[in-house]
Amino acid sequence: MRMKRLGNSGLKVSVVGLGCNNFGMKIDQAATDAVVAKAIDLGITLFDTADVYGNKGGSETMLGKALGARRKDIVLATKFGLPMADGDLMKGGSRRYIMNAVDASLKRLGTDYIDLYQMHFPDPDTPIEETLAALDALVRSGKVRYIGSSNFAGWQLTEAWYIANERNLTKFVSAQNHYNLLDRKIEQELVPAAKAYGASILPYFPLASGMLTGKYRRGADLPNDGRLTQWGERGKSILSDANFDLVEKLTAFAEARGHSLLDLAIGWLASQPHVGSVIAGATKPEQVEQNVKAGAWELDAEELAEVSMMSFRF
Ligand code: NAP
Repeated sequence: MRMKRLGNSGLKVSVVGLGCNNFGMKIDQAATDAVVAKAIDLGITLFDTADVYGNKGGSETMLGKALGARRKDIVLATKFGLPMADGDLMKGGSRRYIMNAVDASLKRLGTDYIDLYQMHFPDPDTPIEETLAALDALVRSGKVRYIGSSNFAGWQLTEAWYIANERNLTKFVSAQNHYNLLDRKIEQELVPAAKAYGASILPYFPLASGMLTGKYRRGADLPNDGRLTQWGERGKSILSDANFDLVEKLTAFAEARGHSLLDLAIGWLASQPHVGSVIAGATKPEQVEQNVKAGAWELDAEELAEVSMMSFRF
């Protein structure tokens, strides 16, 4: 497994990570144990969850149990900020909320430190100074090792860097955002900001929720247990003719080089210097195996340029 540095930090992460949002949602503890065991066996070190995943707390609890004593061998990433209960006090980026949220996550995960603590969404009601100061206190206390952003715009990441720099506070080393071959919007503003200010991109929805795995074919029956099938109308909007047009071109490009569409979806992301780790979700150990194999394809500069031209449609 190839390793990459996360942003300007000294932290190394596996180029393919594991997204854990299916735990406690689509899959139970036994299936979670099997997915996590396979990921560790194959050299995945970055495990990405969030307090809200799995019906508020289920994913962290199941991941903590599945890791057990192997927790010390991996990089554990979680998030805070999305509502954990009704009302104004159980969400966001206030100092009060963060101090409670981190303890609740540590308890569910069964650990005494989080390697990467990410702000799930920007909080328009809290000055970013307050959030950064609270996160810096967590790093100084040892509860958290590194901090990351998620769903920030380029200007928000830049603003956070300047404020942290001015006040000598810990800086974000990662930016987790929607990014895949069907959706490259972040290349306009966020990616240049992340490059300039020392944060690696952690792409979410790298497989477009399954559209880039090859298991959905134009005109064919939908697989019963696939996420896009189960998502109904939302799934249909991803299974659009325009997306199939691009998917078919990408499939032809990959197959001409002895690879699959899935290899290209993950390999293309993993080959970009600004990407830290591709955190693909999985519901079965076989999927983890395929996703890890896909990360081994390092596209050369010519291949990267060709795929980038083919999928350009901002
Ligand atoms: P994704 O990686 O695009 O899609 C993953 C889904 O595709 C799996 O759950 C599985 O679903 C299917 N799949 C995966 N590997 C496959 C394979 N080899 N063959 C066939 N199907 C395969 O999307 P994601 O898992 O939602 O996103 C990745 C991670 O990003 C999440 O787990 C989460 O940690 C994070 N995330 C973050 C945010 C944020 O706001 N920061 C938002 C969303 C996600 P089925 O088996 O059900 O089809």
